[in-house]
Amino acid sequence: MTGPSTLLALNWKMNKTPSEAAAWARELLASLPALPAGTALAIMAPAIDLPALQTALTGSSVQYGAQDVSAHASGAYTGETSTAMLQDVGARFAVVGHSERREYHAESSAVVAAKTRAAMAAGVVPIVCVGEGLAVREQGEHVNYTLDQLRDSLDGVTLTDPASLVVAYEPVWAIGTGKTATALDAEELCAAIRTALTGLLGDAGAQVQVLYGGSVKGGNIAEICGQPNVNGALVGGAALEVQSVLDMVNALA
Ligand code: PEP
Repeated sequence: MTGPSTLLALNWKMNKTPSEAAAWARELLASLPALPAGTALAIMAPAIDLPALQTALTGSSVQYGAQDVSAHASGAYTGETSTAMLQDVGARFAVVGHSERREYHAESSAVVAAKTRAAMAAGVVPIVCVGEGLAVREQGEHVNYTLDQLRDSLDGVTLTDPASLVVAYEPVWAIGTGKTATALDAEELCAAIRTALTGLLGDAGAQVQVLYGGSVKGGNIAEICGQPNVNGALVGGAALEVQSVLDMVNALA
């Protein structure tokens, strides 16, 4: 089996109206070079932007997804977005368990696991986020904490196709702060996650793409993604400007 390829996943967070999303996508496609072999680019957009991205990106190499997904198929869940709704607009991915959802929406790892199972069952690829806060890092407990969170966030998940799941290691202290884990810090956790995935999910777990996220940009992406167990990046701040995305794509070439 070949190893995982590289995924550059852009997390727009709560930025860009549908009109802005469409204009941004057109601007990107006008100057996007051919992606390096084995590299995929995907935009994680607000759900309301997805139809605009479907119109702008269909036929291109750029993929897209949502920043969250419901664990429920349909019904009385006000404000939520189902897997079927995402698939209807061509969304391939859904971020689940982002630290901002865990913090501001009190999402437990049990909820994250339910969303992960729902997404995988429907054929939407979840990008499951895990990672420690600063206090845990300073206590030296970051590996244990992150692997416990990973196990709980994948509770009940079974895996046959490694491409049906992505995991992102995102140390909370590095998100949106300009503080980046060193490439070796990223590698330490991504390698530990890969070993844990193999234990939790069997041989297919070893082939799951493991991303790093936390203040990634053009100047550091090549070194971070050059680590043996880092299969790409989940990017927030540097995902908002077309030029900074092009800088990252070019750095990966
Ligand atoms: C994120 O939101 O997942 C993220 C990694 O943000 P930033 O790149 O801004 O740190």
